[in-house]
Amino acid sequence: MIPYGKQSIDESDIAAVVEVLRSDFLTCGPKVDEFEEGFARMCGAKYAVSCANGTAALHLAMLAAKIGAGDRVVTTPITFLASANCAVYVGAKVDFADVDPVSSCLCPESLAERWRDGTKAVVAVDFAGQPADMQAISTVARERGALVIEDACHAVGGKFRYQGVEHTVGGHEWADMTVFSFHPVKTLTTGEGGMVVTNNSELAERLRLLRCHGMVKDQQDFVSFGQSGTAIAEEQVGQLYEMQEPGFNYRLSDIHAALGISQLKRLSSFVTRRQEIVNQYNDAFSSLEGVEIPRLGSWLENEGSDCHRLSWHLYVLRFDWAGLGISRPELIKRLRAAGVGTQVHYLPVYLQPWYATYFPSNGLDNADAVSKAALSLPLYPSMTDADVDKVISILIDELVATGSV
Ligand SMILES: *Cc1c(COP(=O)(O)O)cnc(C)c1O
Repeated sequence: MIPYGKQSIDESDIAAVVEVLRSDFLTCGPKVDEFEEGFARMCGAKYAVSCANGTAALHLAMLAAKIGAGDRVVTTPITFLASANCAVYVGAKVDFADVDPVSSCLCPESLAERWRDGTKAVVAVDFAGQPADMQAISTVARERGALVIEDACHAVGGKFRYQGVEHTVGGHEWADMTVFSFHPVKTLTTGEGGMVVTNNSELAERLRLLRCHGMVKDQQDFVSFGQSGTAIAEEQVGQLYEMQEPGFNYRLSDIHAALGISQLKRLSSFVTRRQEIVNQYNDAFSSLEGVEIPRLGSWLENEGSDCHRLSWHLYVLRFDWAGLGISRPELIKRLRAAGVGTQVHYLPVYLQPWYATYFPSNGLDNADAVSKAALSLPLYPSMTDADVDKVISILIDELVATGSV
């Protein structure tokens, strides 16, 4: 069975983790700092704050932005649940805007049209690894006083050109915070893990505070003990801690961070291999009737299609099921029987029963259409050329066998 996604672990990753297991620190040790520093450098961001997983990273971003009850957060419906759920965790209301029909990323025009009073943040997703139109999205959001959070869980290590200038995902000015996940199915893994990067020192400080119980240990950071006239005896310094607001235990351990450091060294090769596989698929499927290969949104396409170095997380084909005369469940079943795993990315979040109770699907036509057409093929760096050829020929064979092409 060729799964749709899979981690890539080698002996250097294993050795890195074993080294931590033999060391003094399993958590709160030096590997966490080293991973954060390396990750910030890779993105070209000032600060990187690691945490337990991508969902925790989104939750921390909401908390750091001081979003709460009475506020609204708008996101794309074509994403994993966590991009919306993070707003629910802090008591905010979630809204959805439509997606760009070409890229499946959040559409800036729809964002502006559907804007509602009280919206404090936009969560834009780099769908499949393609950066959303962050320049346009940030213009809409910032003109209306909202913060921009880029959910780059699909796009770690990606670079793109915009108006002739190269930018790195996590390093550009159009997001206030950028969020990553290191789940095994993602491009870089720590087992479970997440990261928020930002250039804003205040946000970085709040993210660190909130991931560890809202607790400060450094006397200089105390707001009460020091100022209220309570003299802190010299020998107590380093023993005292102070909680300024309730936070969480969302820390990443040194075991995870060590795997992250090792994977970060291999990230560039992962991105390259994923790109190669995407190119092989594109060559094979571009002339197939009723099937549409992934395309770049105009903000990327206008720069030239070969000038970006995108970090493809997913390979999402679009199928004209009616024209092909086969249903998606039928094709999924046939591919699985032939040894090829697939996934649907995504069912629009507003169709999930919990969201459907208060957000009826109303006029998000692009999201409905791209969701219905989508099916993701296997994509991971350890796929061999033979694996890729196998997926290609099995898919074409199944479409031929059912009389679809
Ligand atoms: C994976 C993912 C998340 C959540 O990350 P976890 O580490 O699994 O919590 C959030 N948003 C998107 C778009 C994702 O793909």
